[in-house]
This record gives sequence, structure tokens and C-alpha cells, in this order.
Amino acid sequence: MTFCGQCGTALEQRPDATGHPHRRCPSCQWTWYDPPTPVTLVLVTTPERQVVYCRKHSFAPGRWSVVSGFIPRGEPAEVTALREVREETGLDAEIVRFMGTHVYEQRPDQIVIAFHARATGGTLRAGDDVDEVELGPPDVSRLRQGSTSFWLVQQLLVNPAWE
Ligand SMILES: [Zn+2]
Repeated sequence: MTFCGQCGTALEQRPDATGHPHRRCPSCQWTWYDPPTPVTLVLVTTPERQVVYCRKHSFAPGRWSVVSGFIPRGEPAEVTALREVREETGLDAEIVRFMGTHVYEQRPDQIVIAFHARATGGTLRAGDDVDEVELGPPDVSRLRQGSTSFWLVQQLLVNPAWE
């Protein structure tokens, strides 16, 4: 949102009284908060206690992530999560638990709804959205520090609840 929805004046961006960014019209004081985009991240594990890692060619060398995807309008996050697992990795999965919501400080425009899912079948293969998929033990060193993938794998290491 660039212009005031009420009078058309160019909006100014600044923190509100609680420090959150918002846009305000200098003429009529109309305010606007940019909503975050909801995305889902899914920590997928196998019965052999391996984590499913994904890699896109845009990633820095050696960097991986867990399964991720934008939640389209009208689709429950759980449905998106399992659909993305299937599309990105070829695996069927079921949700084990809701892991919480997370904001990666480098992506304040996104709110992550995170799940742990267990693989129940299918064949591991990289789908259209990813370039490589691979299984490995939980290892945060292959994930970007502070990212939601990092946070999820760290949770698994702190509390090894596989199922
Ligand atoms: Zn205005």
C-alpha cells in the first residue's frame, strides 16, 4: 500500500507506538499495516529417524531447508503442508504435531506455520520446486542459522520426539 486508501496522499512508513512498522497518511491519519504472508514449513522425518532435506539451486552451496510452501487462500495449513511434502519430495506423510509459528528475522514479511510430519510412503525424488532432496540425520549446520528450518531441526535435537 503506497497511497492513502481514504484521500490518496502518499503514505509515510514509520513505527507505531509499539515499534511495529506501519504506514500513515500525513493528511488524514489513515493507517495501514502490511499483513504477513502465511507460509508453512514441514519437518519431515522417516521411520529410520532421518530428516528430509531440500535444496533449491538459488541456495548458497551446502545450504538446505526443510519442506516449505506458500499457503494459498482457502486452504488449511495442514493440507498445504502435506501437499507440499508430496510435491517437493514424492513422499506421503501425516502430521505428527503442530510445532508452532515462527518468524525468521530476515523475512518479517512472512509468518511461518510449522509442522512435524512423518513419512508414511512414496518414493523420495525432487519435485518441480526443488532441485535436490536427501535424507540425513538431524544437523543444524546445513541450515541457515536463525531460519525456521534451523529452529525446527534444533527442536528435534532438544526434544527427540520422532513420532
Ligand atoms: Zn489520507
